[in-house]
Amino acid sequence: MAVCRFDEVRMRGFRALAAVEAVTALIDCRSHPLAGETVSVGAAAGRVLTDPIVAGVAVPGFDRAAMDGYALQAPDTAGAAPCSPLGLVLAGESLPGRAFSGLVRQGQAVRIMTGAPLPDGADAVLPVEFGREEAGRLQVGRPVSPGQNVSRRGEDVAPGCQVLSPGRRLRPQDLGLLRSIGVPDVSVVRSPRVEILITGDELLPPGALPEGHRIVDSNSTMLAALVARDGGELAKAPSMLPDQPDRIRTALASSDADVVLVSGGSSVGREDHAPFLVAELGKLLVHGIAVRPASPTGFAVIGRRLVFLLPGNPVSCLCAYDLFAGLAVRCLAGRAPELPYRTRALPLARPITSVVGRTDVVRVRIQEDHVEPLLMAKGTGASLLSSVTQADGFVTVPDQAEGYMTGDIVQVFVYDG
Ligand code: AMP
Ligand code: MG
Repeated sequence: MAVCRFDEVRMRGFRALAAVEAVTALIDCRSHPLAGETVSVGAAAGRVLTDPIVAGVAVPGFDRAAMDGYALQAPDTAGAAPCSPLGLVLAGESLPGRAFSGLVRQGQAVRIMTGAPLPDGADAVLPVEFGREEAGRLQVGRPVSPGQNVSRRGEDVAPGCQVLSPGRRLRPQDLGLLRSIGVPDVSVVRSPRVEILITGDELLPPGALPEGHRIVDSNSTMLAALVARDGGELAKAPSMLPDQPDRIRTALASSDADVVLVSGGSSVGREDHAPFLVAELGKLLVHGIAVRPASPTGFAVIGRRLVFLLPGNPVSCLCAYDLFAGLAVRCLAGRAPELPYRTRALPLARPITSVVGRTDVVRVRIQEDHVEPLLMAKGTGASLLSSVTQADGFVTVPDQAEGYMTGDIVQVFVYDG
C-alpha cells in the first residue's frame, strides 16, 4: 500500500480511502507476538504461552482412593451381598497425606479416605456405604472388582506428556494443572505496552463535569478498558494534549510504548495535526479508510512503534480501535486476531443499506429472535456514545455488499461481558 502524503489531504478531504481488508492485512503483518517473558503461574491467567509445557512428574504420584471406603483385596469380596455380608479384619486407616504403612493381606481391610494412598496389597476400594464396622471387623455387603474406585498413578498426568502447547491462552484451570505438576513459572508473550494520547483543546479531563463549550474526554477511559480487554497494558497514564503540533510531536517522539493510540485530530481539518506529525517522525502507512463510522483513521510506524490515529468522535474511536488498533494489540499479545465479541446469527427485522466500496459497522438491537439496526438521525451517529450503550451489538456490512434485506441472516457481534 502506498505511503500517504498528508499535505495532499489537509482541508481538501481524503482522495482515496483504503479498503478495510487491505489495512487489516497490513496491521497483521506488522503485529507478530512479542517475545516471551517469565511470569509466576499465579500471575499468568489470560497470558499466552510461548513454549510447550511437559510434565516432569506423574499426577497423582501414587495409586490412591477415588472414594471414601475400605481398601482391600477384591477377591475377598466375591459373593458378598447385603443379606449375606462377608467379614474382614480391619487392620488400620489410610488418610490423605498419612498413609497406612503396613500391607493389606488376604482377609484384611483398611479404612481409607478419598485421595489417600492405596496401601500395598490392596487392589480395590469398597465404597463406605457398602461396608459396616462392627467390633474391629468390616462387614462387606457388595463385591468390588480389582481396580474399582482406585485412581492410578499418572491417571491425571503421565510424566513426559505435553500438557499445554505454545499459543495457549492460559485458563484458570490451566494454572491449576501447572501447579499440580510443580511448575512455578512460565514463559508467556510479553503484554504490549500501549500509550494513549488524547488531543483536543475542547477537552476536560476524565472526572470533570462538562462546562461551557468544553466536553469531557470519554475516549481515554474507554480505550484503556479496551486495551486491557485485548491483553495490553498502559505504558503510563493517558496524556491530554492541546491541539498544538509541538506538544503532540514531543509526545509521539518520546514514547517508548509498543503501540501509541492518538485520539482526535486524525482527520483532514485545520487542527488535525497528528497525521502530518507521524509522517514527519515515521511513516504514515494509511490515512483514511473506507469504513463507516471511522473513516478518518490512520496507521503509522515510528521506529518500531505502531501508531494508530483514531477519530475523536467516541463511536468512531471505538470502531477504529476494535477493527484496527485492537487487532494489533491482540496480535502482539499473542491472542487471536478476531474481534473479541461473542457472535449470534439472527434474521434482520429491517433492511440495512450500505454502498459498494465501503464497510459499514451498524449498531443493532436484538429483539428476542431477530435483530434490527438502531435508528439515528442522519449524520449524528458517530458522536453519540449513547448509541453504543443502547446497542446490543453491531453488524458489519463488507465493502462488496450493498447491504442486507429484511429476513437475511446476519452475524451480530454482541457487546457483553
Ligand atoms: P476530532 O477527531 O478531533 O476532529 O474530534 C471529532 C469530535 O469528537 C469533536 O466533536 C470532538 O469534540 C469530539 N472528541 C474528540 N476527542 C474526544 C474525546 N477524547 N472524548 C469525547 N469526545 C471527543
Ligand atoms: Mg480535535
